[in-house]
Amino acid sequence: MPLLGPAEIRDLAELLGVTPTKKLGQNFVHDANTVRRIVKTAKVQPDDTVLEIGPGLGSLTLGLLETGARVVAVEIDNRLAEQLPVTVSQLDPDADLTVVTADAMKVTELPAEPVSLVANLPYNVSVPVLLHLLPTFPSIARGLVMVQSEVGERLAAPPGSKIYGAPSIKAAWYGRWSIAGTVSRQVFWPVPNVDSSLVAFERMPEPGTLAEREATFALVDAAFQQRRKMLRQSLSTLLGSSADASARLDAAGIAPTARGEELTMPDFLRIARA
Ligand code: SAM
Repeated sequence: MPLLGPAEIRDLAELLGVTPTKKLGQNFVHDANTVRRIVKTAKVQPDDTVLEIGPGLGSLTLGLLETGARVVAVEIDNRLAEQLPVTVSQLDPDADLTVVTADAMKVTELPAEPVSLVANLPYNVSVPVLLHLLPTFPSIARGLVMVQSEVGERLAAPPGSKIYGAPSIKAAWYGRWSIAGTVSRQVFWPVPNVDSSLVAFERMPEPGTLAEREATFALVDAAFQQRRKMLRQSLSTLLGSSADASARLDAAGIAPTARGEELTMPDFLRIARA
């Protein structure tokens, strides 16, 4: 099946009168090799239902459909969402595609249960989109997303590293994350001013209840708001006082003088449970 190259991307954008906006992270991929590499790395199977966020003009969508998979695509931009089924039916009349016009940070219902998430995510909202989708659609067992490289490194970062932060710990709640490659800026139109990476995700059983997740994430947010401070200090407002925070940390077996960046996700869960 033909995928979209630079000429098709330009023609489609012109047809729709679309000028890509930074606000919606609209950088469209115009390189078939990149698209096929993403689909292959994502290990999409013909009987999979794949959730794609931000299909845009359809570059990755066509690559996913090429495998025979069913695709549910969520796009916020009306013009793009309306054109996508037209583009796809012209190039691949048998394709199984459903387009949902919605904000991926708010969507709560889909026409099918996705087993996989594969997306070239809008850069500025990639983490909130992931942290909304993973709890909302527990059927998602794995995924591969393209994000800004710094964000990808953060999602996959181990404790103690400079870039380790709240997104690393929250992401770890849902599963394992690893960097699966980089993508050249030159495959996008317009060319972005950041580098992109592919991040693979494999869901693991959640380590606690919903209430424990909320309590853990609140602790994580507080700890990383003041990441250079000791935990007894950074958690003092959330837990009542510095003395209360120290008592809770002691009960969880964590040194009150430790900093958030030294703790793993299970450490934060232990504090929440203590
Ligand atoms: N998948 C296409 C590709 O690879 O060429 C486009 C990717 S582009 C980086 C991001 C896409 O996400 C755009 O089509 C944009 O309109 C869409 N988008 C931005 N914010 C969104 C949101 N909150 N919910 C759903 N889609 C969004």
